[in-house]
Amino acid sequence: MTDALLDAIPAPLPDLEPVGFLLRDSSLRGRLLSELTSEEAFFANTILNHAERLEASTGWDGDTLAEYLGCPVATIKDFRDLGMERLTISSQYLELLWKLTGLIETAFDVRTLVLGYGHLYRRAENDITRVEESFTEDPGGAYESLELGEVQTALDIALRVIDPKGFREPRNPFADQPRVHISTTRLDALIKGDLEVLGKAVVAPRMREHIYGLPDHSEGCEACRDALEYRRARIAEDGRAINSQVLH
Ligand SMILES: [Zn+2]
Repeated sequence: MTDALLDAIPAPLPDLEPVGFLLRDSSLRGRLLSELTSEEAFFANTILNHAERLEASTGWDGDTLAEYLGCPVATIKDFRDLGMERLTISSQYLELLWKLTGLIETAFDVRTLVLGYGHLYRRAENDITRVEESFTEDPGGAYESLELGEVQTALDIALRVIDPKGFREPRNPFADQPRVHISTTRLDALIKGDLEVLGKAVVAPRMREHIYGLPDHSEGCEACRDALEYRRARIAEDGRAINSQVLH
């Protein structure tokens, strides 16, 4: 985790007020939960369940998670005045976040996603459906990048879906080239067998599958395979520090 990322404490998201209260004030939690109607308690417990899993996968405690999610500080009165609407929104917010973090593996990647997800939500004008729809399962979509552990690329792609006008780029002269889906740094880690940083259990095997395909099934991605072979040759012929320039 870079300092720059840790410094980027997001502005509060008022929609997440109940999350902040439930995460930060564990001493009052039980009493307040008992005051809720059964429907409210259902959403509050859903929030707590997702938050607990996020604490485990980010390695953050409740206070830190609340801070990086952008939860405003709430008083007991705020919590008692909460409408069902805010509890529902908070629950949906964490539900989708949890679903997306399920695709990745390392604490660093999950932390990056937590921070970027809040940014997407703000850009989508606090509309969780727009955030959900921005993670399309189309080839080249945000979902595919996330599955390969390319969290920042996934966030960039999702942001373009949410706010296409925010991007005015000159035409990319390489646009007709087959797209490489995996960044140079991660290809290098795969070649060197540095699997912990990629996510050893799920993400690294998924990257290999993407590159080489499944036996007797798909053929794998030629562009990424070429990129991998190119990096392998570079690493073999030159043992010096590998720069992180993007392959084109
Ligand atoms: Zn590829």
